[in-house]
Amino acid sequence: MDLGLRGKVAIVAAASKGLGFAVARGLAAEGAQVAICARDGKTLSAAAAGIGPDVMASAVDVTNEEQVKAFVESVRQRFGRVDICVTNAGGPPSKSFEQTSPADWEAAVRLNLMSTLHFAYAVLPGMKAQGWGRLLTITSVSVKQPLDGLILSNSVRAAVAGLVKSLANEYGAFGVTVNNVCPGYTATDRLNALASKLAAEQQTDETTIKERWAALTALKRVATPEEFADAVVFLASDRASYLTGVSLAVDGGLTRGLLG
Ligand code: NAP
Repeated sequence: MDLGLRGKVAIVAAASKGLGFAVARGLAAEGAQVAICARDGKTLSAAAAGIGPDVMASAVDVTNEEQVKAFVESVRQRFGRVDICVTNAGGPPSKSFEQTSPADWEAAVRLNLMSTLHFAYAVLPGMKAQGWGRLLTITSVSVKQPLDGLILSNSVRAAVAGLVKSLANEYGAFGVTVNNVCPGYTATDRLNALASKLAAEQQTDETTIKERWAALTALKRVATPEEFADAVVFLASDRASYLTGVSLAVDGGLTRGLLG
């Protein structure tokens, strides 16, 4: 199937490793012009080299509105337009409610909701004007089924899912689709960090924690970042032209609800 991505210009945020990196590599493999960002410039340069020859990479903190604006503008300067934007960021810390403070909540809102809005403000007017666009958010399976110990993620990502549904309604008439992709347990550094924290708390090892996570899924294993990326690449493509306002769980059957 030709995904129709050749020559499309795609931004992938927070893409120096993990899910964002896999998405950027997947889009580049389909012939898209890719621009990535993350905070650490050194990791970012290595990531860009691993994605392809003409990848634009900028050190940007996605919680900083001015930096996001300038980054999107620089992508337009370099490639002429923005067709696809995949929003992403790190995840908030794992905490119980009593371990959180108001500052934690504000930080989680900045990291996972406001960062998405910064990109939405920067890219949607151009997509609307050109009559084609794809805005994709990376959130978490927690928007389908809250995860233990991740109250900050469970709460703030729900706001992103609401935003996506609303934006899909507002921009559909202009040829712009807006979708949310929800990773389940996927083998990245973030997952390793969560496993290590839980292992210490439960006096066990990381492998045991990961086996427990795998057992919760229908497929009995955690995902590779590439399996997650394939779903994002499809939603970014021309072939997904009648899909909008969806929150798609790429979770190996973790979510148990009928409409998961
Ligand atoms: P990861 O392996 O830790 O990678 C995170 C990436 O985001 C890195 O490139 C990091 O680079 C960048 N980043 C973090 N904060 C940033 C910021 N403020 N501005 C710009 N870039 C930033 O994480 P991941 O597993 O790919 O997860 C990506 C997202 O999916 C997270 O929100 C995570 O919570 C969510 N998620 C992951 C899983 C999973 O199983 N992996 C499951 C559900 C949800 P720098 O540090 O250099 O900025």
